[in-house]
Amino acid sequence: MKHTISCFLTILTLTAISHFSFAQRQYGGFYTQEKIQNLKNNCIKYDWAKDLKNTVINNAKSFVDKSDDELWSLVPGQNTPRCIDVTLDRIAKGPKVLGCLKCGLDVLKFGNYPYNPEFVDKPWKLTCPSCKSIFPSNDFGKFYASAIDERGQFDASKGDKSLLFNTEHPDPSDPLHKYGVDDGYGFIDQKGRAHRFIGYYVWKKWDYISKGLADLAEAYLYTGDKIYARKAAIILDRIADVYPEMDWKPYADRGWYHSDGGRNMGKIHGSIWETQIITSFADSYDKIISGTVDNIELYSFLKKQSEKYKIGAKGTRALMLQNVDDGLLRTAYKAVLSTQIRGNQGMHQLTLATCAIALDSQPESNLWIDWIFATDGGNIPGLMISTFDRDGTSNEGAPGYALIWGRLVSQIAERLEGYPAYKKHNIIKEFPQFNTTFLAAYRMAALGIAVPNMGDSGATGTVSNGADPKFITKGYVFTKDPEFAKAAYIANKNSADKLGRNIFAKDPDEISKEIQNVAERLGPRKDGGYLMSGFGLALLENGSGNNGVAIANNYGRTIMHAHPDLMNFDLFAFGKWLAPDHGYPEFATNIPSNRDWTGSTVSHNLVFVNEKPQKEIWGGQTRLFKQLKGFGVFEIDGQKAYPETKTYQRTMFLVDAESGENNSYVIDIFKVEGGMDHLYSFHGPPGELSNSGLNLTAQKAGTYAGENIEKGIAANGFPQGYSFFYNVQRDQSPPPAFIIDWKTETGYRGTTADDNLHLRMHALSKVNDVALADGDPPQNKPGNPKKLGYVLMHRKGEDLNSTFISVFEPYKQNPFIKSIKRIDNGDESQIALLIEHTNGSIDHILYNPEYEKLMKLPNNVSMTGNIGFLRTKNNQPTKAILVNGSTLSYGELNLKSEGRITGKIVKMNKNPSGSGWVLVDQILPENGSLNGEQLIISTKGERDATYTIKSVKREGKYTKIDCGPITFAMGLKNKQSEDPKDPYSNYIYEFEEGAAFSIATHTEWSTNK
Ligand SMILES: [Zn+2]
Ligand SMILES: [Zn+2]
Repeated sequence: MKHTISCFLTILTLTAISHFSFAQRQYGGFYTQEKIQNLKNNCIKYDWAKDLKNTVINNAKSFVDKSDDELWSLVPGQNTPRCIDVTLDRIAKGPKVLGCLKCGLDVLKFGNYPYNPEFVDKPWKLTCPSCKSIFPSNDFGKFYASAIDERGQFDASKGDKSLLFNTEHPDPSDPLHKYGVDDGYGFIDQKGRAHRFIGYYVWKKWDYISKGLADLAEAYLYTGDKIYARKAAIILDRIADVYPEMDWKPYADRGWYHSDGGRNMGKIHGSIWETQIITSFADSYDKIISGTVDNIELYSFLKKQSEKYKIGAKGTRALMLQNVDDGLLRTAYKAVLSTQIRGNQGMHQLTLATCAIALDSQPESNLWIDWIFATDGGNIPGLMISTFDRDGTSNEGAPGYALIWGRLVSQIAERLEGYPAYKKHNIIKEFPQFNTTFLAAYRMAALGIAVPNMGDSGATGTVSNGADPKFITKGYVFTKDPEFAKAAYIANKNSADKLGRNIFAKDPDEISKEIQNVAERLGPRKDGGYLMSGFGLALLENGSGNNGVAIANNYGRTIMHAHPDLMNFDLFAFGKWLAPDHGYPEFATNIPSNRDWTGSTVSHNLVFVNEKPQKEIWGGQTRLFKQLKGFGVFEIDGQKAYPETKTYQRTMFLVDAESGENNSYVIDIFKVEGGMDHLYSFHGPPGELSNSGLNLTAQKAGTYAGENIEKGIAANGFPQGYSFFYNVQRDQSPPPAFIIDWKTETGYRGTTADDNLHLRMHALSKVNDVALADGDPPQNKPGNPKKLGYVLMHRKGEDLNSTFISVFEPYKQNPFIKSIKRIDNGDESQIALLIEHTNGSIDHILYNPEYEKLMKLPNNVSMTGNIGFLRTKNNQPTKAILVNGSTLSYGELNLKSEGRITGKIVKMNKNPSGSGWVLVDQILPENGSLNGEQLIISTKGERDATYTIKSVKREGKYTKIDCGPITFAMGLKNKQSEDPKDPYSNYIYEFEEGAAFSIATHTEWSTNK
């Protein structure tokens, strides 16, 4: 008998111990003993760490000075209403927004969230930033205190109603006695509309609590002083009391507003912002866990509260940890699964990872993390192939938005890296294609200094390099790829200072030292443009930095935050964007200035077809990309943007001007076949326009839409955007060639009067009529010009076949082009330009879409091929380039080449995990000559199946072309795999085995060698 009992006891003890061993964990899952010790050592060793420690202590001051009671009472419960707009209503009739109760819509100019409550000095009050009136008019604090229930939570129905009056008008017969009074559910005005001062205040209060908690938790890490841990734990324990019941839905159902993506789901906040506040709570919890050991004052306080209110048993560390684990972390886990916590992709996955690691309890934590990777869960692997491209951007079209996903996923990767207990997945190792995200912004910058303003990003002509050296450094830490170190160094203004500094590491500046060494060895940024065929950006460059010239053509997504501007281009020269996109719209809403103008096709440098904007699509297709020294050319097919056309294609050249000024010129050949109306729209930099060749008559009034159509009105019976062109002048029978000159206005993005900076456009197209007009970019962005000067070249007729040919010449002081002539036979199938420089050089530009057909020009020039360039001086050749051709000859000069490489894809790597290689049915040179060139694969799919070649290796009668750590998979079929033997039969690929491919070749010759 005795034996049995002891056995039973042993089991009990064992259970108790194993339960204890996780509930009573000593440290957080992420902030381990080692990390915290390193941090403390670093704070002794380094002055910068000491400074940081002082800042952290300072930040926590206001919260650590609050009494335990005050902190505990700070946390509102489910019945304390909350919302993010005082009047915005999803149900009420009438205007959506009313603004301030006193000054109305005036308050809107202070932004979307104009009120900033002062929680200490003006509790429960909102001050209007516009008229300075303060609401609510009642003493809500008193009412709140009167309405606390037995669980310590606010319940308006229990409050003392006699307190609900305007304190400045206490007399009940005063007509203002009830004016501006809010019981938590808003002041209801005469029209029955609610003004929810308290709702808005409580939303902000939750963020105030979250910030205060985070400050306390940081201060505990740095100081080890348990007072910070106690204060933080009091808040966390209280949040855990109320969190299971928190539900945003009842407020959403009333028509109130929050970040729920219109789904009425959420808990404290709408489901989107819920991800952030819970991530922050869980992170704070992880930080303070070691500070809750032997924290006697903490447990006696919690015990006291549990005696005062019906909130369950409290008073030990085990009970506290159990409460926060259950009430906060496990509740959050369930809420992620039920989508009450659900943000943009990456957000809720990060929340769950942070919660799982803070819980640090096996096998539970790892099962949660598994969910992040599960197809029916967080689906990181699926997203990695379906919404992520080989340039590290997501399915958004504007640079800023397109980079968000990469940033979020890198945070998940970082969290998981800091939690070695989870071994099943490693984002960085499993998806090598992900790592390009760290370089995406850096690579988008033309000449390394200017990210083109595409879609909803930047402002008109803003020059920003976009690259964040700290983020690139993360990529280096993950991969140790020297190219990342070099990029981080360059992005950090050629310095490794503080890069990768990690206060939790034994040597916090180890990474910075590594980067310094690697970057010094690798040298500066390589000159020359490149193709980002995943994102959809073709960059050609000549020269470097502010002395260089670049063209950027965006042919990627025109969905999401993009504009319908496929193949729009901008020209960067002398440190300025000279054909600037409007940038971020005036308001990113569906109003004419955005829908018809900034966010539509005709405000861009494009051909507007059939008086309709482009269709929104995933992107265009590369037909050719070649960047050589001093010469670059690309051809992009954008036909899908105008499905009614047969051809919608742009070919652009960037050619070194050789004038000793680091200058270049641009040739634009825009081919459109099909349709009845083609309008080539182009605008230069802001400033005065002059022209030569046109005979203009000013339109008396109105806009391009008509004499009696006012500026800026929504399209109605006329094409979208036409009402935004004003000051219209027309030439009804323009000559086949004319010149427009823009003189950049002083003040435009730093342009000075001395700059005397111009852009000339040499138009070489036969059109029906030409108009010059002004158009305004968004007027509410700092530094935006008042207006831009547009040229509109128009063709009209049945089944049009147009080739718009233009040459763009940026210059300072004096132009360098003397004359331009077309010397082809004029039938548009072959194009030849003769460009005479002021220094006597003559350039021949040859463009022949029918590669095999001989192109024979006057003055002895002939070519069989696609692209030819010949420069002569005094009738002697000085430079010649042949792209995709067999011969280019001029007198004695006879350039020969093998012509374009073509063949078929025999086999492709179908593995979705980042290794892009194909076998082709051709024997290709292994000498490295194809490295860096584009492998262009034919596809019927929506994505551009063009890949940069990393290496070429012969394999029997085939050649293996490796395109680096990318994947060809772009999505999953809906149906499950039909062939169980083929693990990849369920994937959709960017192209198919058997597809045709091509690689452009070139030959160069020059006397300068
Ligand atoms: Zn006001
Ligand atoms: Zn745009």
